Amino acid sequence: MKIIILGSGVIGVTSAYYLSKAGHEVTVIERHAKAALDTSFANAGQISPGYASPWAAPGIPVKAFKWLFAKNSPLTIRPDWSLAQIKWMAAMLQNCSPERYQVNKSRMVRLAEYSRQCLIELRAHENIAYDGRQQGTTQLFRSTKQLDAAQNDIRVLSEFGIPFELLDLQGVIAAEPALANSTVPLVGGLRLPNDETGDCHLFTQKLAELCANQGVQFVYNTSVDELLLQNNAATGVRCANAVYHADAVLCTLGVYTPFLLKGRLDVPIYPIKGYSITVPINDAACAPLSTVLDETYKIAITRFENRIRVGGMAELRGYNKDLLASRRATLEMVVNELYPNAGDTQKASFWTGLRPVTPDSTPIIGATPIKNLWLNAGHGTLGWTMACGSGKLTADLISGKVGEIESADLAIARYAK
Ligand SMILES: Cc1cc2nc3c(=O)[nH]c(=O)nc-3n(C[C@H](O)[C@H](O)[C@H](O)COP(=O)(O)OP(=O)(O)OC[C@H]3O[C@@H](n4cnc5c(N)ncnc54)[C@H](O)[C@@H]3O)c2cc1C
Repeated sequence: MKIIILGSGVIGVTSAYYLSKAGHEVTVIERHAKAALDTSFANAGQISPGYASPWAAPGIPVKAFKWLFAKNSPLTIRPDWSLAQIKWMAAMLQNCSPERYQVNKSRMVRLAEYSRQCLIELRAHENIAYDGRQQGTTQLFRSTKQLDAAQNDIRVLSEFGIPFELLDLQGVIAAEPALANSTVPLVGGLRLPNDETGDCHLFTQKLAELCANQGVQFVYNTSVDELLLQNNAATGVRCANAVYHADAVLCTLGVYTPFLLKGRLDVPIYPIKGYSITVPINDAACAPLSTVLDETYKIAITRFENRIRVGGMAELRGYNKDLLASRRATLEMVVNELYPNAGDTQKASFWTGLRPVTPDSTPIIGATPIKNLWLNAGHGTLGWTMACGSGKLTADLISGKVGEIESADLAIARYAK
């Protein structure tokens, strides 16, 4: 089949890899000059199926209200009174019940665990260097209240059979020795030994090069303006200077998916803005080994080879991409507190990105009511974690195969009234 993929973030490129492996003729159209220059550019680097959890959870509405007034809060809401924001927030609140949480969590864990396997297999077959590490991740607690609250997470981890280790301070330092230098008191941590880390941007660019060498055509610097339809079937897309025809169109436009499909398909994806800094390492002995997640600020600190990525925060403020100095200050403060002397935060690069989040936090993968139009979008906080599994599943479905995991409940049909 001739297949056009729209967008070359980590989701578009992993989809291209598996579709081309399945023998299809694949063209990827991307408005930027290279792959992974949008949300997949500088995320926090965690490949963390163990943390696959919906944002919409029981207790979140109360927590969110308190965070609105907290200094260095991980969450900010700026009402823009747009219909998209209002509808998305209402749908998200409906997903905060214990019943919906269970359903959404199990879908996310299913996909994330599958993705873990797919990444391991991909790594075994392809030589892709992406500053990857397989050394687990550690959630850090600064207070006994946080440590006690971890019992809720532990219950869920046990229920889903995810290996974990509850650590006291000695255990935390054994896992992440440089935390012995922390200038703030720590009481313990929750370690997920099977989680991984790596630079999503490096991975996506290398995989795009590999795909190109295997015959995938990448059309960069080209914005897709319109989906072409005939008798409610997708036949291709129109760009500024060209029309591309195909047997199937796969939309992996992340947070921009609703724009292209506006008026044709209502796709409930809303941007949740986050920030990161990337700090050059001065003294490797003072740096993290893998990812630590500071529970107090909900900020992840990840070791790449000679850099530290520090990322987090959640702002609902539409498509605004201003770089706020106060956010950089919080990211710098957290890494300097936990890992003093590890790197030079003055020399850090600062970035912001928009997570494509659905109201139930689960991506939208599969067929749509428009024939030959497929979706693989809305991966929210976990697009890097879920990319390989989502790409493989999408490729199987488009190829007419039964996916290796259950997938009917991941399709857009779940939002049908
Ligand atoms: C601060 C932050 C930290 C994060 N940390 C993690 C983490 O630790 N672990 C994890 O798993 N996930 C993390 N994420 C989430 C992850 O980065 C995203 O889920 C993922 O990058 C989404 O990938 P995507 O391919 O769907 O979107 P994108 O990477 O945004 O790709 C979409 C592509 O479509 C292109 N495009 C858009 N419109 C058009 C058009 N009209 N024509 C042509 N091209 C177009 C864009 O240019 C872009 O390249 C984080 C996100 C943020 C913001």
